[in-house]
Amino acid sequence: QSLEIVDKFKEVLIEKDYQDEIAVIKTGCFGFCGQGPIVKIHPDNVFYVKVTLDDVREIVEEHIIKGRTVGRLLYKEPETKKTLPKHDDMGFYKKQYRIALRNCGLINPEDINEYIAFSGYEALGKAVTELSPDQVIDLVKTSGLRGRGGGGFSTGLKWELTRKPPADEKYVICNADEGDPGAFMDRSILEGDPHSVIEAMAIAGYAIGASNGIVYIRAEYPLAIKRLEIALSQARDYGLLGKDIFESGFNFDIEIKLGAGAFVCGEETALIHSVEGNRGEPTKKPPYPSVEGYQKKPTSVNNVETFANVPPIVLKGAEWFQSIGTEKSKGTKVFALAGKVNNVGLVEVPMGTTLREIIYDIGGGIIDGKAFKAVQTGGPSGGVITALDLDTPIDYESLKAIGSMMGSGGMIVMDEDDCMVNIAKFYLDFTQDESCGKCTPCRLGTKRMYEILEKITEGKGTMEDIDKLRSLGQTIKDSALCGLGQTAPNPVLSTLEYFYDEYLSHIVDKK
Ligand code: SF4
Repeated sequence: QSLEIVDKFKEVLIEKDYQDEIAVIKTGCFGFCGQGPIVKIHPDNVFYVKVTLDDVREIVEEHIIKGRTVGRLLYKEPETKKTLPKHDDMGFYKKQYRIALRNCGLINPEDINEYIAFSGYEALGKAVTELSPDQVIDLVKTSGLRGRGGGGFSTGLKWELTRKPPADEKYVICNADEGDPGAFMDRSILEGDPHSVIEAMAIAGYAIGASNGIVYIRAEYPLAIKRLEIALSQARDYGLLGKDIFESGFNFDIEIKLGAGAFVCGEETALIHSVEGNRGEPTKKPPYPSVEGYQKKPTSVNNVETFANVPPIVLKGAEWFQSIGTEKSKGTKVFALAGKVNNVGLVEVPMGTTLREIIYDIGGGIIDGKAFKAVQTGGPSGGVITALDLDTPIDYESLKAIGSMMGSGGMIVMDEDDCMVNIAKFYLDFTQDESCGKCTPCRLGTKRMYEILEKITEGKGTMEDIDKLRSLGQTIKDSALCGLGQTAPNPVLSTLEYFYDEYLSHIVDKK
């Protein structure tokens, strides 16, 4: 419907003879998905929500021509019912701090000039003309940037480890194989600001000594692929990819490889096998990709959101980035906030923001004023967090300490009506289906756990089944080959810990 709204605006503006004064621009995601389609009027900064085709004429006649806001289309805060016309005043945006999403919803992602107008490619220019590769690595290391795909490994250190081994060719791979149910952070960045990722990949290539980059992206993301293709072609036309970039002697280009949407291909060794045209199965590490990766050459695999942070770090400096976040987790994190909250959408907050702030201040609280029950972070690899831990500041360490994990940024909120056994079953259904089957604990163990959960939810489970779930879960965690299997039991084990009563309520014979 958004595309039809764009056409309608153009049509009405021509009809009113305003087509030369007002530009209609298709942007990427504003983040506030629950309120879409959104139309933002610049420079007034007025934000219209849930706009329909029928509203377009009124916005043009009232706002654009007469300068009066259309009250009924302005956003109302769920708690106070206060009308807020300005983007920055809304609870949803007030506590956000946008680094990775800085241009999403602001620029036309299909026009490189708009990216350039917002300091685009300045960081690449600075890196290749003013800094040595080691200085770039030091800068990223000092900034404290850690992998946003879930691992949390130091990005600068990964680049350093890839730079060190001598090799005639090295590779930079962007992991855009976002596969968590409910997660759409990377897709939105690529759809809304593809040049930020291209620029960062070129900076990474310069730092590690690579002249080739690959974006591995799932084929289910057609708009992100289209915008990436447009951006790559524009960057080549502007001499920002290819030979002798910024007349520095540095050569770098990027190709796109499509993935078929297997969750396990988000794991870097499986991803590399898939890029090589082989079956997407993980292999044991070491050797790490930084030593022996794509085509057996040193390869740095970084996630989309990680890359999107790099240009501002190079431009504004490590200290600026370090000043945001907590002691060990610097910068911000993007979350796909979903489930039983009033304001679902894409949010970017400084590390250290509490879950309560995300769910209540940004998310606007629980739908229909119901009671909060739990939030799942880390997608199918994470665990549930209960009301007792709502004031936990979010960072890599604190989420782990309370039995969950950062993951790539999926955040699903559950209310008093949700059955936690069913939630655990849902996630396990996903992971057992996505298991590549290479190792027995994961291939058979997760299936067996799923069968037991089915039995329990059908009211046929026994106390012995609960014990089996626990021991099987622990065995899989300890013996599976890759992260998928090692974390697959987490949703079951954490719900067993925090919501044991709900498991018991499904068991008829409690002996
Ligand atoms: Fe494949 Fe699961 Fe083993 Fe990973 S843990 S290699 S996904 S079977």
